[in-house]
Amino acid sequence: MKPKVAFFSFTSCEGCQLTVLECEDILLDMLGQIEIVRFREASSLKRDDYEIAFIEGSASRPDDVTRMRKIRERANLVVAIGACAVSGGVNFMKNFHYLQRTREHVYGAQADWFPTTQVQPVEAVIKVDHSVYGCPMTKDEFLETVKSLLVGRTPRIPQYPVCVECKMAENVCLFHRGQTCLGPVIRAGCQAFCPGLGAGCDGCRGLAPDHNLASLTNVLGEYGMKPEEVRRKLRLFNGYIEVQP
Ligand code: SF4
Ligand code: SF4
Ligand code: SF4
Repeated sequence: MKPKVAFFSFTSCEGCQLTVLECEDILLDMLGQIEIVRFREASSLKRDDYEIAFIEGSASRPDDVTRMRKIRERANLVVAIGACAVSGGVNFMKNFHYLQRTREHVYGAQADWFPTTQVQPVEAVIKVDHSVYGCPMTKDEFLETVKSLLVGRTPRIPQYPVCVECKMAENVCLFHRGQTCLGPVIRAGCQAFCPGLGAGCDGCRGLAPDHNLASLTNVLGEYGMKPEEVRRKLRLFNGYIEVQP
């Protein structure tokens, strides 16, 4: 019996589901091991007899909480995929503005047609068994998670910062070029994608365990960035840390 898998989308750009479709070289092999019973980007099937639920996006509408709870009741395992689901991602920035003003800014005269709430990552609503990080998540990490779930082991997700992969790629550190980067405090797993292209890490994979944000803030201060600017920069993907207990 192949495990039955469903994909669900909440507030997001659905780019992480697209990443699943981009696994084309291994997609057919994957379909030999799992049965996809719900995946609206690729199928019209809408079955509820799933064992594993992959959830993309965050809760930001009144009925999202009820829908997530229902998924949790039906699934044996829930996996949050992508920054929106894991931490609220870019969506979380909404929580730092007046809700009604944001709503009017986005929907204009039709604002009242679209009810909205503060953004919550999936784990703020229901228990999450595994997380796949990044905006978008990487194919490798998604496939590592699927394979691990199939054989019953914990997915191997990097527990060290982006700098480790950046050094392994032999990139010249951007700080040596007078640029700034959040790599020292952000979880690796993207093979230092942005520094490899000459751009500083913006933190889409969330904070690495045992990060030292105070130390990075000091270093960024030496590069002319005030603590308030560091905080604003982190808010792009990591606003949730400001509301952590
Ligand atoms: S994490 Fe990024 S790519 Fe994935 S759904 Fe959210 S905004 Fe889109
Ligand atoms: S460029 Fe960024 S990720 Fe790379 S070593 Fe420097 S601080 Fe770390
Ligand atoms: S370098 Fe940073 S922002 Fe770029 S993909 Fe990796 S974690 Fe995300």
